[in-house]
Amino acid sequence: MSEQYDVIVAGAGMAGSLAAGIAAKGGLNVALLDRNPEEQVGKKTNWGWVCGDAVANDHLRFIKEQTGLTFSYPALDQHVDGVYAISPDLQSKYIFEGEGFVLNRPEFEKKLLEFAKKSGAHYVPQFEVEGPIIENNFVTGVFGKSKAMEHKEIKAKVVIDALGVATQLRRKLPENQYVDKDVDVDDLESTGRYIYDFDLDHEDPMFFDRNNALIHLNQEIAPGGYGWVFPKKGMRVNIGIGVQKRSLQIRNEKLGKKDTLHSLMDEYVRTNPVIKNPRLFNADNNGKGYWSVAVRHQMESLVYNGYMGAGDSMAMPNPISAGGIGPSLVAGALAGQNAVRSIQNKDVSISGLWQYNLDFNEKYGKKTAGLETFRIYLQSLNNDVLNYGMKTFLTAEEAEQLSYGLVPELHLAAQFKKFLKGVSNINAFSNLVFAVRKMKKLNVIYGKYPASPDNFAAWRSMVSKELGEVKERFKPNPI
Ligand SMILES: Cc1cc2nc3c(=O)[nH]c(=O)nc-3n(C[C@H](O)[C@H](O)[C@H](O)COP(=O)(O)OP(=O)(O)OC[C@H]3O[C@@H](n4cnc5c(N)ncnc54)[C@H](O)[C@@H]3O)c2cc1C
Repeated sequence: MSEQYDVIVAGAGMAGSLAAGIAAKGGLNVALLDRNPEEQVGKKTNWGWVCGDAVANDHLRFIKEQTGLTFSYPALDQHVDGVYAISPDLQSKYIFEGEGFVLNRPEFEKKLLEFAKKSGAHYVPQFEVEGPIIENNFVTGVFGKSKAMEHKEIKAKVVIDALGVATQLRRKLPENQYVDKDVDVDDLESTGRYIYDFDLDHEDPMFFDRNNALIHLNQEIAPGGYGWVFPKKGMRVNIGIGVQKRSLQIRNEKLGKKDTLHSLMDEYVRTNPVIKNPRLFNADNNGKGYWSVAVRHQMESLVYNGYMGAGDSMAMPNPISAGGIGPSLVAGALAGQNAVRSIQNKDVSISGLWQYNLDFNEKYGKKTAGLETFRIYLQSLNNDVLNYGMKTFLTAEEAEQLSYGLVPELHLAAQFKKFLKGVSNINAFSNLVFAVRKMKKLNVIYGKYPASPDNFAAWRSMVSKELGEVKERFKPNPI
């Protein structure tokens, strides 16, 4: 292994393999480092490829446009027409993502790695990245342990951090105003899921739908998060829940319970009336697992001197749905392209890498602070208000717009305000109006993402002010 590269991509997951492939295709000398052995590429932790595995087709189309890469079965395991969010009382449902697929994640990751290798990236499996090499406030490489457990230092002009949510690189950057080192625990979801084969007790599309992914909003079952039932090929299902730790704690205190993520997951499976006789599908030891997802806006800047981040390392998942596959793929592609451009321009400083911030903002990132606002609002509603609100506050169209980060005018619902029943519902509606206003403001602020690092500090303080007010107004209130 040569110890000097143009680019090191740390992490061969969704974001990393794509970034490495694109940078190598652009003529760069690229190392792609990952702790897994090759046959387990993309495995997130010892718990496996822990994920709901659902991705919208739009994202796959974007990757095809950028790289020519196409996917088919078995990587695309099951087609779905859309994703339904269902109210706690099962009386209302909103469609909130279009057509897509539930992936066979290990197979999908193998395809991405194949692309990286074919494009010329030098893949180094079983390399544990331990931290960045920092020289004069520039990231100039990484250090870690090789397969032989030897300490290694590898240098590069640019390091792309694609290590996922527990990244050892972003967390060890020098103190700086661009990329945060920590994520607030309230902005994390603790998640867990099973993959089960099962017998169908009876048809009920509120609990299992062969053609749609289902999301159950329910603050008792999944406080501060949601439960999901995503169909896989045959009689197989990816089923799990995500919770916000603080909401779970409040719920337990109020109900006098001691539930954990694990006990809630089991309860969620047990109380699904359609799923009978579940048997763990444990191929690749991937049947059961836990991991975290950040549900905030992505890091305000995705670049530092000599450093770029893509995917979960930068908190990119959608703050409402926790869908992170799409933004990871988008960011992986854009990071690879921008690494090529900056190295050709011989400027890998924050300024030289800045265009990546603009590209990601334009393609995906500009809506996430607004979506985070809506997520924080949702976490302040108990089941009764959720039931009432989903029936009364928003039309299906308005809800769909919100889920895409667009901000509806709320004309229809606003006219009905005087007919709303119950103090908590009226408060919740006023809060929705407040949240929607803030979403609009944040979308405008993100529409003016700074063209260079010069105006970043002032822009960032506007974001912090708006989100600070949202967090101040809405507190988790699951029960
Ligand atoms: C339970 C759960 C359900 C989810 N459901 C969905 C869903 O249905 N749809 C969706 O779009 N998103 C979902 N997500 C989010 C999605 O899985 C992630 O957004 C996505 O995997 C991010 O890809 P990534 O490449 O950024 O990081 P990762 O997939 O985490 O990949 C990181 C890679 O880096 C490697 N690595 C990490 N640390 C080191 C180290 N120190 N040294 C060397 N290698 C290292 C890992 O082994 C891995 O290969 C879910 C997440 C969870 C936890």
